[in-house]
Order: sequence, then C-alpha cells, then structure tokens
Amino acid sequence: MDFLDFHHHKPNQTGIYNLDLHESVPNSMFSAGLHPANISENWKSDFERIKEKTSDKNCIAVGECGLDGLITANEKLQAGIFQAHLSWAEEIRKPVIIHCVRRYSQILHFKKAKVPLIIHGFHKKETIAEELLDAGFYLSFGRAALENISLQKIIRTIPIRRLFLETDNSDFSIEDLYEKVAEIRSVSAENLKNQMWENLNNIQHYG
Ligand SMILES: [Zn+2]
Repeated sequence: MDFLDFHHHKPNQTGIYNLDLHESVPNSMFSAGLHPANISENWKSDFERIKEKTSDKNCIAVGECGLDGLITANEKLQAGIFQAHLSWAEEIRKPVIIHCVRRYSQILHFKKAKVPLIIHGFHKKETIAEELLDAGFYLSFGRAALENISLQKIIRTIPIRRLFLETDNSDFSIEDLYEKVAEIRSVSAENLKNQMWENLNNIQHYG
C-alpha cells in the first residue's frame, strides 16, 4: 500500500486528489469543494456542481472549503458557503477538508458539525492546535512540518488518531514526511502508514 497523501493537487498521484471545479470525477480517491479563493458570483451553480461531484463513490471528503482572511470575498458570504458545505457533508455523511487562513476563532464556531472536520495544511501555534483538538478537529500537516520545530512539538503529542499528512501544492515526497513524523513519534514509518490508513477509514465510518 502507498503512503497516504491526505490532500494534494496533482492529478495521477495517489492519495486524496483535490478536484478542480471543472474537472470530471476520476476513477480514484478525491475530494471536491469550493475554495474561498474561487468564490464568484456564480457560486450557487458552482456549488451544485460540487454537490454532484461529491456524491460520487470515489469522493472521500467534501472540500477543501473554508474561511480565508487574506482574500477579498465577503466574509459573510464565505461563512455562508462554508456552512452550506458542512450541511451537505452531513447529508451525504462525508468528512470535510478545511482551508483556514487567519480565521481560526471563526472556524471553531462550526465545531458542532456532525461529520469529522480536518484542518488541512496546519502550520499555526501550539495553543491554536490545542483549541482545535479540544473542539474535536483533526489536523493534517504538510511540508512545513519537515523543518518547523513548533509543529514538530504538536506532532509529538497530538492523539495519533487525529493526525494526517499531506503534500498539498508542494513538490516533495510524502515518504520524507512520514519518515520525519515516524522519527518524532518513535514509531516505524510502516506503522505510521498503517495508522494513517486506519485514520482515513475511521473518518469515513464515524459515529
Ligand atoms: Zn490544497
């Protein structure tokens, strides 16, 4: 079995491929959502497409979707569209992959969603990680965790069942990240690999 890459944007790579809005559904694992940066005046019809794509059996999760404080899209609209994704995910019983930039306190308001919520590309402080973990969120770490000591500290203590690993947009081998995290956790990369697949299975068959 391959090392699970929980979130990436590279077609033909294994793991959970984040589908573009206008791409047809692939014959392998994917996720689909309306990224805040892609919100346009056509968001309603775009969201209908997302609903269609995420209904596919190969769709593992809804998203990435979320809140982004660095883009121009209206904040209320962003929150409304994010909530629409959560409600839809609850309806089809799939987890949600969340994109969050500078809006962590707002994201916490959505913690009552009845589906697993995974913050992807987490690279914030320990205190924010703790708040998110206490609220039941999962955290997925990417390239930054190879070097960042503060992230490595979080990785050392995070409940292993709440952890995922991803390459996102970065060009590096997911295997290197598994090696690093395995070293931090004092487990074998093989053991970690099995654990990540088990985690994926758990978020698909929750509750
Ligand atoms: Zn991404």
